[in-house]
Amino acid sequence: MTVANNLANIKQNIEQACKNSNRDPGDITIIGVTKYVTIKRAEEALAEGINHFGENRIEGLIDKYQSIGTEATWHFIGSLQSRKVKEIIDKVDYIHSLDRKSLAKEINKRTNKALKCFVQVNVSGEESKHGLDLNQVQAFVDTLRNYPNIKVVGLMTMAPFIKDEKRLRETFRSLRELRDTIQSEGWEHAPCHYLSMGMSNDYQIAIEEGATHVRIGSSLVGPYEE
Ligand SMILES: *Cc1c(COP(=O)(O)O)cnc(C)c1O
Repeated sequence: MTVANNLANIKQNIEQACKNSNRDPGDITIIGVTKYVTIKRAEEALAEGINHFGENRIEGLIDKYQSIGTEATWHFIGSLQSRKVKEIIDKVDYIHSLDRKSLAKEINKRTNKALKCFVQVNVSGEESKHGLDLNQVQAFVDTLRNYPNIKVVGLMTMAPFIKDEKRLRETFRSLRELRDTIQSEGWEHAPCHYLSMGMSNDYQIAIEEGATHVRIGSSLVGPYEE
């Protein structure tokens, strides 16, 4: 499949999900996740109008950035070791995986602009997943006011890899409710208006439950044939 075909499908699905939930498709940002594909395939996506890219590894981000650069907006979506922050800090526009104070401290130290960050939440409590428990998030976001170079723009989660629509919905809804609570605090360092949730297998549900940023890899730039 070409990226153009894939994207046409995705846009149709997004429109439907927005219709179902009375939302405006213009409020949804598609982040093209290019972690499994070549620079050429990423450039194909760029040519189709994808101008937000997500990578979950340092090397992948740097490779794609070197070829595409500031024509796109860059999202780091993987778990991030503090000592690696300096390698990507000048290239990324958003970090989706802020989940601990030591990382906040390092980001704050390495930049002098208010870097847009999502706080990662492990809504489902799966042990394999990164992120804070739901009940730790608000206090954590509160403490981030001590790091003037961090702006908390939203919350991010990865849903469990399941088909059970009801459980997926509950996961996304919990994150949205938490976002609403934090947003209503009106904290200057944490406008917290965004929700980064939904991947290839569940983005329609995530949108119906309030996602503003969907991170789509395989159904956009796949399938991955060798
Ligand atoms: C790989 C990845 C995605 C995209 O996954 P697909 O199922 O291929 O759409 C989204 N978010 C994160 C954090 C990822 O690592």
